[in-house]
Amino acid sequence: MADLKGKVAVITGAASGIGLAGVEVFIAAGARVIAGDIQDEKGKALETRFGPEKLRFVHCDVTDMDQLKAVMDAAPAAFGSLDIVWNNAGHGGTNTSVEELDLDGYDQTMNLLLKQVFAGTKFAIPHMKDKGGAIINTSSISAVSAGYAPITYSVAKKGVAHFSKLAAAELSKYKIRVNAILPGFIATSIFGASLGLPREVADQMAEMLYQAGGKMQPIGRVGKGTDIAEMAAFLASDAGEFITGGEFLVDGGMTVGPRHSWDATAASPV
Ligand code: NAD
Repeated sequence: MADLKGKVAVITGAASGIGLAGVEVFIAAGARVIAGDIQDEKGKALETRFGPEKLRFVHCDVTDMDQLKAVMDAAPAAFGSLDIVWNNAGHGGTNTSVEELDLDGYDQTMNLLLKQVFAGTKFAIPHMKDKGGAIINTSSISAVSAGYAPITYSVAKKGVAHFSKLAAAELSKYKIRVNAILPGFIATSIFGASLGLPREVADQMAEMLYQAGGKMQPIGRVGKGTDIAEMAAFLASDAGEFITGGEFLVDGGMTVGPRHSWDATAASPV
């Protein structure tokens, strides 16, 4: 397990799925956390669970620039520092084709997935520039090729990965490291939530996906939030101090190739 003792982190999308796992892993590793999300009830329950000396919940819609700045500012105000930012909040966004593109949905999706990462980084810099820090951005395997997610989401996630590389170059002068994680299929509520299902149903669906999806990748199980959070904790820790501008696939091998290349029981097209 990574060592995050003494570090203060902001995690967006912290009430559910990968972000929630981030909260659990980071606190277990010794960090104090500002948890930002739009799900207030779940966020407040986190404060009760961990106590205000370890975690504060801040209501934050990451598409609202004032709220996004406020969540970054909350870290030094509450805990005296900001050392780690994990720009993670997300949703499937618009599911329209290029031909029938919903232009408003396009703007909303890009604001949520890509502008958040630009602006979250911008708002973190003043708190990190004197002592360094680590920024982690949640991209996706959909940044690698077609077929994993809607086109607008996938282009946004490619942007997140490329942003991370370019920001790593720019911010190296401040010893701020920036990396992207590209999760594979992680059983979370995002799938149900992106279909517009109520959150409770989406949460139940996540559990069902975890039970059902084991054969989709060479590692014979679906991913868990903690698979991503452990990578984030390592990148955020001092053990990761030589790592910046990286794109890290954490996908159980999903992108290694078509199923017949790794599963002898799957039919080959030739
Ligand atoms: P999730 O639905 O379990 O969690 C997403 C969280 O983001 C929720 O708590 C939600 O309330 C929050 N959120 C949504 N819109 C927000 C907003 N405007 N402001 C603040 N918070 C907001 O889903 P997840 O799978 O944990 O998703 C986390 C990240 O991982 C997302 O960026 C997603 O695109 C990415 N991702 C997920 C997978 C996967 O298979 N689950 C794969 C690749 C990438």
